[in-house]
Amino acid sequence: MKKVGFFKSIQFKFVLIYTLLILLAMQLIGVYFASTMKEQSRSSFEESLKQQATQLVYIVAEAIKETEQSDKTTMQQKMRAVQDALDDTSIRSRSGEIQVVSEKGKILATSDISNKEMVGKSTSNQIINKDRLTMEGSVHSRRDADSGERLLILTKPIKSEGETYGLLYIEKSMESMYSELSRTNGILATATGIALVITAVLGVVLARTITRPLGNLRQQTLAVSRGDFTRKVQFNDDDEIGQLAIAFNAMTDKLHEANAKTEAERRRLRSVLTYMTDGVIATTRDGTIDLMNNRSEELLRLKHQQAKNHSIIDVLDIEDQFEVDDLYDYDDFIILDFSTKYENQLIRANFSVLKNEYGAITGLIAVLHDVTEQQQLEMERREFVANVSHELRTPLTTMKSYLEALDEGAIENKELAGKFLGVTQNEVDRMTRLVKDLLQLSKMDASNTEFHKVQIDIVVLIDHIVDRFEMSKTQHIDFERNLWDEPVYVDIDKDKITQVIDNIVSNAMKYSPDGGTITIDMEKDSHEVTLSISDEGVGIPEENVDKVFDRFYRVDKARSRKLGGTGLGLAIAKEIIAAHDGDIWAESQWGQGTTIRFTLPLLKGGLENET
Ligand code: ATP
Ligand code: MG
Repeated sequence: MKKVGFFKSIQFKFVLIYTLLILLAMQLIGVYFASTMKEQSRSSFEESLKQQATQLVYIVAEAIKETEQSDKTTMQQKMRAVQDALDDTSIRSRSGEIQVVSEKGKILATSDISNKEMVGKSTSNQIINKDRLTMEGSVHSRRDADSGERLLILTKPIKSEGETYGLLYIEKSMESMYSELSRTNGILATATGIALVITAVLGVVLARTITRPLGNLRQQTLAVSRGDFTRKVQFNDDDEIGQLAIAFNAMTDKLHEANAKTEAERRRLRSVLTYMTDGVIATTRDGTIDLMNNRSEELLRLKHQQAKNHSIIDVLDIEDQFEVDDLYDYDDFIILDFSTKYENQLIRANFSVLKNEYGAITGLIAVLHDVTEQQQLEMERREFVANVSHELRTPLTTMKSYLEALDEGAIENKELAGKFLGVTQNEVDRMTRLVKDLLQLSKMDASNTEFHKVQIDIVVLIDHIVDRFEMSKTQHIDFERNLWDEPVYVDIDKDKITQVIDNIVSNAMKYSPDGGTITIDMEKDSHEVTLSISDEGVGIPEENVDKVFDRFYRVDKARSRKLGGTGLGLAIAKEIIAAHDGDIWAESQWGQGTTIRFTLPLLKGGLENET
């Protein structure tokens, strides 16, 4: 935050207000004081001049009276007497002039030496001439044209015992009075200046007491805005600022609490999002992605950084079918196919609208759920039902046509009837076998099958089975047994494992050419035994090798069916081996013969009840 400029600071405003107030007060006082002083000085100046005039009138009157008492009084003598009286008197205007004028307007005497030649002549002074006629005193003031001095002028008739002798004229400079006044004003101005300086200093100090806690408060506010809640505002007084500091500290605590709560909530939300098994994507109002959790990154095989600022429409690859606005009112889900050459990936996407506290739409939330397995299962289920129906329909159709033939008269032909019934019986057997296999599979799916495990020597079991095949074989096929010389003990359900080996060997026989050899190998390591049954038959195309364990899968459907196969044998074998904690797989190449291998865990800790 930028620093407060000096002229904008409270400190400056304080000082300004204080000094302006003082200036105003001093001005008012000054004006009032100066005008009162001026009036007072003027009136006392006038008063003292009047007193001087009264004294002078008396002295001059006495001097004139004295000259008039002697017999020969000339005008000259009279004037001298008046002049002497004037010169003698201590009451003399130091800066100014005193004149005595006869009733007729002749200047009898003057205190101004430079005007001595005027004595005896008629005066031209208008004030004197005016007052001489009325013989009444008056007071005037004027400014001297030459020196520019301000003068006070006073006239007074010279009277004694009813006799009038002339007019006294006094002219006195008021400059000394005015300079006295201006000195006083100067003192006042200096005092004002000093008062202003003191006020300014006091203002600064006083403003500091307010601005310092405010500065402290500002620092604290900045710290809080940076997320530092540890600092507290220091305060000493319990005044308004102290109260403000208390309130601020309380607010900081509350803010800290709220912040911690929000942070905890955010962390919780983040970990929920991170560990969710569903993908979550949040967008802004225009569909731009601004949040993606780990799961959605995995599902879309895309990093958040790559998707950020891209439209959700592009990222989900649905730009052909939807616009962003369509998603805001899309109640259904969308299945997205993110399958690659190597991996199937189907994602179900649901959308919901994000709103703020005023109900305005602020964005979109997409929840992604991996439905690959679900869809696959669904597909397999449908396929399975179709397969079962198909497998059942074929023998039923065959039976129906043979029964119809019998009904239409073939029954009369004994030989034909016997053949037809044989076929029908075969089909019924086939259906029975199919239903039995299906039942067995469904039982194993539901984990309903009970395994009656016994500890036996697998070498003996295989020998028995192969003996059985050798005895009942109709083709010309050789069996080669590379079995272990010692007993190899396993803990198995004898009937179920017999079923597995039966199926593998019968498959090998089915697909072996006449004169072929079926080899049974046995390998053993510390914990398991591996059995391999190899033939020299047609083999299985390499890309379908793993599929032979799928339900109803047959490489050559027509041929297998002809050979009585339903395609469930190896699927059942796989379930049985898995239930024994073993593994089963096929190795083959088209036209190169087939090897089916399976493992069984060896009996741990040797044979129990061994005799
Ligand atoms: P079922 O065993 O139920 O009577 P099936 O033999 O056709 O019918 P599976 O044993 O599950 O079914 O075998 C599945 C398919 O795998 C067969 O239809 C066949 O195409 C192929 N197959 C199995 N074993 C061999 C083999 N040794 N040589 C060539 N193809 C084989
Ligand atoms: Mg089979």
